[in-house]
Amino acid sequence: MSSFLHGCRYFILPLLITLMALTVIQVTEASWQIWDEIIRQLPYWLLSIAAAMALQFNRSRLAYLALLLLVFYVSKQSSAQVFTTLNNYSDELFIGGSILISWFAFIKDRGLVSSHGILRALGIIIGLGLGFIWLEAVEHFQAAIIANSPVSMTYQALTLVPIMFCFVFVLFRAIWRANLVNTSILTTLGIWIFYYLQPDTFPLAVLLSSLAVIYLFTILIDSYFLAYRDELTGLASRRALYNLVLSLGRKYSVAMLDIDHFKKFNDTYGHDVGDQVLRLVAAKMARVSGGGKVFRYGGEEFTIVFPRKDAQTILDDLEDVRESIEDYRIVLREDKRQNKSNTQAKAKRSKSRNAKTKTVSVTISIGVAERLGGESFDQAMKRADLALYRAKKKGRNQICL
Ligand code: GH3
Ligand code: MG
Ligand code: MG
Repeated sequence: MSSFLHGCRYFILPLLITLMALTVIQVTEASWQIWDEIIRQLPYWLLSIAAAMALQFNRSRLAYLALLLLVFYVSKQSSAQVFTTLNNYSDELFIGGSILISWFAFIKDRGLVSSHGILRALGIIIGLGLGFIWLEAVEHFQAAIIANSPVSMTYQALTLVPIMFCFVFVLFRAIWRANLVNTSILTTLGIWIFYYLQPDTFPLAVLLSSLAVIYLFTILIDSYFLAYRDELTGLASRRALYNLVLSLGRKYSVAMLDIDHFKKFNDTYGHDVGDQVLRLVAAKMARVSGGGKVFRYGGEEFTIVFPRKDAQTILDDLEDVRESIEDYRIVLREDKRQNKSNTQAKAKRSKSRNAKTKTVSVTISIGVAERLGGESFDQAMKRADLALYRAKKKGRNQICL
C-alpha cells in the first residue's frame, strides 16, 4: 500500500499539476497573447537549458527528448526546404515520434557521447523509421485489415493503433516504476498526442515550454532527493540533518536511535532481510509524534531532532516509537528469485504459504539529550550518543536521558 502511495506522489501529483497549469494557461489566454513574440522564442531557450541541465545531471533521456523537441520546434518555425519537406510527412513523424518517446520510458540514462550514444542515435532513427513503415503497411493492407477486423475500423483508427499501444505501455511503466523521469516521459507522450489530435487548442510554443519546465523541475527535484534522501529507507539523510541544524533555534532536543543486536540479525537472516527490516523500522520511526524530524544517520543508526522541545516532553513520543517497533511482527517476504522459478513450485509454495511465512522482530535503544546553553549541535548529539550507550549497557530496548 505504501508503495502505491509513493507511486501516487510521483505519478498522479505531477500529472495533476501539469493539467492544472495547462488549464490556467488556457483560461488566461487573452492576457498572455500580448506576449506572443516572447512566447514564440521561449521553447528555444527553455528546451536548450533543459537539455544542458539534463546532461549535467546525467538525465540523458530528458536531454534527448529536449533536443528532439527543439529540432521539432525549429522544423515547425523554419521555412527552409528540408523542413517544409519534412512537414509533408507529419503523420509519419507523429507516429514515429510517439514510438520514440515511448522507447525512452524503457531504456536507461546513459552518457550522450559514448558507445551508448551511437546506439541511442540508431534507436532514434529506427523509432522514426517505424512511423513510416507502419503508415506504408496500413496503406498497403488497409482494405484487407478493415474487411477482416472483428470491430469496425477506419483508416484513421488504424494509423493510431501503435499510438494506443505506446500510451498504454508508457502509462503502465509510469505507474509500475513511479519516478519523476517516467512521469515526464508520459506527460511528453500525452502532450505529443494531444497536439496532433487538437493542434489549435494551445500554441506549440506553450506546450513545448511547459514540457521544458517539467524537465527542469524533474531534474531539480530528483537532484534534491539524491542529495538529501537516503536511498534505502527514504528518510532524510545525514546531509539533510546538517542542513536542518543551520536553522535550529536555541532550544531543541536530539535523540539517537540504534537497532539492538543488528549484526547478529544480519548474520542470522542475511543482509537482504536486514535491509528490508531497516526500511520497515525506518517507516515506523517516520511516524514519530511531537514534531520530531527523522534522519538516517548512517548504518542502523537514526537521529530524531525535536525543535523547540525539552527532553522531558518528548519521552512519550519516543516511547511510542520504541514500543511500536518492539510490538512490530515483521513478516518476511519470500525470496523474489525463488518466485520467478517454475509455476509448479509456485503453486506448491502458495499451498504451504502459512507454513513458510516467518515473522521476526527487532528492538531499538534510544539516547536523548536536550541542548544546554552555549552548546553546539555536535556537542548535544555527542551527549545523546553517550545516553544511547548507557541504554545499551542497561540491557537495550529502552530510552536513557
Ligand atoms: P548493538 O545492540 O550494540 O547496537 O549491537 P549491533 O550488532 O547492532 O552493533 P552495531 O550497532 O555496531 O552494529 C551495526 C551493524 O549494523 C553492522 C552491520 O551488520 C549492520 N548494518 C549497518 N548498516 C546496514 C545496512 O545498511 N543494511 C544492513 N542489512 N545492515 C546494516
Ligand atoms: Mg546496533
Ligand atoms: Mg550501530
